[in-house]
Amino acid sequence: MKLLEGKNAIVTGGSRGIGSGIAKVFAEQGANVAFTYNSSEEAAKELEKELSEAGVKAKGYKSNAADFDQAQELIKNVAEDFGAIDILVNNAGITKDNLLMRMSEEDFDRVIEVNLKSIFNMTKAVQRTMLKQRKGSIINMSSVVGVKGNAGQANYAASKAGIIGFSKSMALELGSRNIRTNVIAPGFIETEMTEKLDEKVVQGWRDNIPLKRGGSPEDIANACVFLGSDLSAYITGQVINVDGGMLT
Ligand code: NAP
Repeated sequence: MKLLEGKNAIVTGGSRGIGSGIAKVFAEQGANVAFTYNSSEEAAKELEKELSEAGVKAKGYKSNAADFDQAQELIKNVAEDFGAIDILVNNAGITKDNLLMRMSEEDFDRVIEVNLKSIFNMTKAVQRTMLKQRKGSIINMSSVVGVKGNAGQANYAASKAGIIGFSKSMALELGSRNIRTNVIAPGFIETEMTEKLDEKVVQGWRDNIPLKRGGSPEDIANACVFLGSDLSAYITGQVINVDGGMLT
């Protein structure tokens, strides 16, 4: 049985890494997938093709999640192209790491805009559609760093902790309309980005994780399938750590 058969999903930041993994697993589970990207046009076209080959409707949209008006326009277009919107995965995110002493105001603001304000933009844009439907599942991508903090990532940690507060508030505001809002806090997930890091350093990180490996985009995607599907119909306002036991 496909867990997302017939559902329509939007995944922000679908062109690479975790977002691309979510889009692929969603399509395997029968969901039609609208996904966004910021600049990776080529990767987006390839993903669109790959998802369509899984037999679902799929479309990539160039849309800056940090921009309020672009989020409104995106939802309008997706609603026209797909009809109902059952699942929104707010996955797009960036890092601009530095110790506070060296962190510029611009790098603080940018990370908050892309990681946190984007979630306000997208939730506000999709809420009318989901309210009308009287159902919806919103999944927001935080991080172990948002739960625990991390030296050199004050901007990122603040944005990811903010996502948790925002999501819990949405669970309270929208619950009576059967709109669920949950958070996933990934630990160390191995993507193309981490392939460029020093292997010895990465091995050290793996050794410190109870399950002794980094996570894969599919590990995160599977948690999203659960939260997007009717299997989680009575779950809202929760933070699920998908981190191999890192925070235990
Ligand atoms: P990634 O490989 O760098 O991919 C980021 C994605 O977000 C790309 O598709 C990118 O599009 C898109 N994006 C960036 N800025 C955007 C904007 N302004 N508007 C729309 N899309 C934008 O990142 P990742 O590692 O897959 O991470 C995905 C999410 O998981 C992020 O929220 C991240 O904070 C979180 N996370 C990751 C880890 C990890 O270990 N990797 C751990 C915890 C949490 P383009 O390709 O067009 O740039």
